[in-house]
Amino acid sequence: MGISEIKQPVYDLHCHSTASDGLLSPFELIDEADARGVLYLALTDHDTLGGLEAARAAVSDKALSLINGVELTCTWQRHCIHVLGLGFDADSSCFKPYLARLDALRLERAERIARKLEQKRLPNLLQEALAIAAGGQIGRPHFAAALINAGIVETAQEAFERFLGRNKAGDVKVDWPNIEEAVSVVKAAGGLSAIAHPTKYNLTFTKIRQLCDDFKSMGGDGLEISYPGVIPDHTRELQRIASQRGLLVSGGSDFHSNNNRWSALGRFPPLPIGEGHLLHALNVIL
Ligand code: AMP
Ligand code: MN
Ligand code: MN
Ligand code: MN
Repeated sequence: MGISEIKQPVYDLHCHSTASDGLLSPFELIDEADARGVLYLALTDHDTLGGLEAARAAVSDKALSLINGVELTCTWQRHCIHVLGLGFDADSSCFKPYLARLDALRLERAERIARKLEQKRLPNLLQEALAIAAGGQIGRPHFAAALINAGIVETAQEAFERFLGRNKAGDVKVDWPNIEEAVSVVKAAGGLSAIAHPTKYNLTFTKIRQLCDDFKSMGGDGLEISYPGVIPDHTRELQRIASQRGLLVSGGSDFHSNNNRWSALGRFPPLPIGEGHLLHALNVIL
């Protein structure tokens, strides 16, 4: 066990379950969070609330507080951006048509990804990818797993580098909802929104600042500034960007599975729950 694992994490506002591209069921995820000493956990599956009910049932005998969450895929300018929705009412009717639209977009995208890969002389992997997703929201990681199962690649990383990542055949263009729509739907359901992992979109800091200006002006609430892979200089710059615009700050592991030794639930560069932290605004502390 590494030294960073000894320190007990207290919160994690970004993680995935089998309801999207995570490998642990909501039940297993809650167990793992509890075992790691996480007290506040937001389950933020991609474009679905499908895991929240099971996660809610699993926390009933735990000290852990579950925060309703989702990671919404959307577009800003021509970029694909992820917006976290946190602390909303999961039964709100506002979400239903929005998520149904995302279900349809993701299914239609999966069909196009399968056709694009076929044009690269690969077998049609649609049914295999859907079987791996097993009723969860379909995404590129399920195609990565299908490519591994078919013996075409050895790792998910290789699948993204060769077939699924930026500008590869499986990176098909999608008309995701506009970022403003994502912010609005979260707000309408009584939640707070935050831009996820801002340094992972291949944007310059000038563009990130513009994104944050727009996000704030459309009613967005926060910015994720601590997550695996972000360098300390960038977290400091993101903290400045957030403070200057009155955006709250957040942190999370973006946990998907225990397969990668660098990723663990509750593990991301320490970000104290000081003033301006999203957790305060979520009203779950005290
Ligand atoms: P999608 O939501 O279908 O667009 O797929 C994006 C997801 O793919 C991310 O949330 C990650 O879980 C995963 N992902 C992105 N890039 C990579 C990569 N290079 N290697 C493995 N997984 C990746
Ligand atoms: Mn993912
Ligand atoms: Mn993301
Ligand atoms: Mn994520």
